[in-house]
Amino acid sequence: MVASYVTDIPVISSLEEMGWNEQLEENFSAFVGPYNAGRVSAAQRTHYDVMLPNRVVSAPISGALKKIRKYPVVGDFVVLLENLKTDSLVIVAILPRRTTLTRGGAGESSGEQILAANIDYAFIITDTGPDFNISRLERYLMIVHTSGAQPVVLLNKADLTDDLSPVWEEISDLDKNLPVFVISALKKNGLSNLQPYLQKGMTVVCIGSSGVGKSTLINALTGSDLQKTSDIRENDGKGKHTTTVRELYPLPSGALIIDTPGLREIRIWTASDSLDEVYGDIQMYAKECRFSNCHHLTEPGCAVQKAIVDGELSEEKFKRYQKIAKELAFESDKAEIGLKRFEKKKFMGMRNMARENREWK
Ligand code: GDP
Ligand code: ZN
Repeated sequence: MVASYVTDIPVISSLEEMGWNEQLEENFSAFVGPYNAGRVSAAQRTHYDVMLPNRVVSAPISGALKKIRKYPVVGDFVVLLENLKTDSLVIVAILPRRTTLTRGGAGESSGEQILAANIDYAFIITDTGPDFNISRLERYLMIVHTSGAQPVVLLNKADLTDDLSPVWEEISDLDKNLPVFVISALKKNGLSNLQPYLQKGMTVVCIGSSGVGKSTLINALTGSDLQKTSDIRENDGKGKHTTTVRELYPLPSGALIIDTPGLREIRIWTASDSLDEVYGDIQMYAKECRFSNCHHLTEPGCAVQKAIVDGELSEEKFKRYQKIAKELAFESDKAEIGLKRFEKKKFMGMRNMARENREWK
């Protein structure tokens, strides 16, 4: 039996062009025997599409990996063992990941779900119009910083916005070294500035809220309608093995792009990734405040302010917390944030208490 080939993904002729580097080479050198190295281009239900030089194969993982629940994700470099008798390949190891993008972005907490691995640049796409939201952008930045990838902010739909100065003003508070580009994915304006991030062997992802223009940008970068094509194919009812889910593919520039449904749905706040989890330390200090309805601003006996003064708590983190808490109380766009209802209520309660407190004085 010939190892099942996946035919309609463009093949890449060398590991280097897939993003291979010296570190991976060193890790792989521990495997002596009929081993191959490749990169996972899609995770199917039971098999993985793996790019090898000049071909893409479909391979399962070994029983040993299954036993320890080590599952590859898109972008992983894996080691495959060749069974010469049956001419088939089995994934026997996942090489150490350089970066990992996880759902929720809360870091190494238990139960985190790795969505993709070995990403160099994350394009965070945002709107430039009235939908521009600085705290949402900050939350995407948090996800990317946690991943180890380098963030690149793309202010999209510039063709619809006459005056970008309000957006620039809000962005000016962010890290000065953060690359920010104004583009129009639809009109293909400003895309040549992205070339430094799209070099051969670099791996990029596009994240951002729904409707900001991720598909439009990816289609502009691939110079085709790949996204649409794969949607149509998914619906044509063909068997699993002939259905190609394109999750990692080369761009004409030689860079690789990862685009999965999971990445598209990235949200900082998921049910398991609550405010408590990320800002647990702030809430811990808050319990020590003299007043149970403390606003942590200028109240006497505020343990949060004390922690900031003592250098135990970062002021930046507290500011982000305040911003998010405020947003939770006032913003209408809660579905996207995905916070549990009771948490929202908790902040509404805090706000009302604060108001009552003020009226009392
Ligand atoms: P996604 O949900 O992030 O993948 O967003 P899409 O790529 O599907 O884009 C959502 C809508 O915004 C579509 O109607 C696009 O045509 C439109 N769009 C995307 N980029 C631009 C742009 O640069 N300018 C304008 N005017 N419209 C855009
Ligand atoms: Zn306080």
